[in-house]
Amino acid sequence: MQLEKLTLYRLNMELNEPFVTSFGIVKNKDFFVIELEDRIGNRGYGESVAFTAPWYTEETTETIFHMMDQFLVPLLKDGKITHPDDVMELFSPIKRNRMAKAAIEGAVWDLYAKQKNIPLAKALGGNKVEVPVGISLGMEKNTTELLKKIEKYISAGYKRIKVKIARNNDLAVLRAIRKVYPNLPLMVDANSAYTVEDIDYLRRFDEFGLMMIEQPLGADDIIDHAALQAKLETPICLDESIYSLEDVKLAVQLGSCKIINIKSGRVGGLSEARKIHHFCKQNGVQVWCGGMLDAGIGRAHNIALSSLDNFTLPGDIGASSRYWKRDIINPEIVVDDGMISVSDEPGIGYKIDRQALKMFTVWQKDYTLT
Ligand code: MG
Repeated sequence: MQLEKLTLYRLNMELNEPFVTSFGIVKNKDFFVIELEDRIGNRGYGESVAFTAPWYTEETTETIFHMMDQFLVPLLKDGKITHPDDVMELFSPIKRNRMAKAAIEGAVWDLYAKQKNIPLAKALGGNKVEVPVGISLGMEKNTTELLKKIEKYISAGYKRIKVKIARNNDLAVLRAIRKVYPNLPLMVDANSAYTVEDIDYLRRFDEFGLMMIEQPLGADDIIDHAALQAKLETPICLDESIYSLEDVKLAVQLGSCKIINIKSGRVGGLSEARKIHHFCKQNGVQVWCGGMLDAGIGRAHNIALSSLDNFTLPGDIGASSRYWKRDIINPEIVVDDGMISVSDEPGIGYKIDRQALKMFTVWQKDYTLT
């Protein structure tokens, strides 16, 4: 692919509003933009998804810098790739560290699509012209505030609402929502708030007619989720338990879930995400694309990925304005009646807002790849 130069930009962007989950509060996104340039000046972009603390997976903004700087960029410099699918093999001497690998691989995919002069969605095999989107709401001070938020996003056209729950607020929150919105497409994300001891308790969730319950049990668990799914009518969706296609095969074979949340960062990149998509399609498992409080570049990758045909459930993609006062891409991503258009421009389909990139960059580091 004739790679010439790679630049890491470390950005810090303040979220419009803090995002509260069962494991912490995120106020700022501290992350990397990866810019990859070829010999004729095409530029591909990737975005890292790790948070500053290891509460979602073991990776952090610092660990991914260490991995990219010391190991992955040197491998990219010394190796040869003809297609983005080669990146995972090239990086295979490095164990795990999937978010670090995915950040660079995303830039390779964008560059590849630009070299071919095709949209990233097409390069990945997607054929949708628009994708349905839902919204993920963090925890609120009280249910009145949460209901206000829900009303706001339903009015904006979002196709489904996802709420974060914790043990002390779960049933009360669901009762309050269902009282006002008996038929709203609704799902919950527990982020591992429960254990296998809670199976009987979790069966009480069935009365709420949820689209799914996401990651109720341990972050690395696949076995206990199978025991829970056998007792639960509500489909289980796995998020934190799935790092690879191998994990998906195990989960499907054991009956641990009926739905998979695919995040390319968590599984090591778009190539692995695509393999998971294909396997799930063959095995009748629905998938959707999760979010990581992404800025515009990561969001653009998610839109392209969601254009594959087995992404049948609304993704956590959202408009730029939902998260940021100013995004780093141009035009910003907009949601129209719960749908986002898939760009037909080459690559990710959005220009980088260089002024915004500069404004949010804390420091940058350049690498020559020749
Ligand atoms: Mg989740």
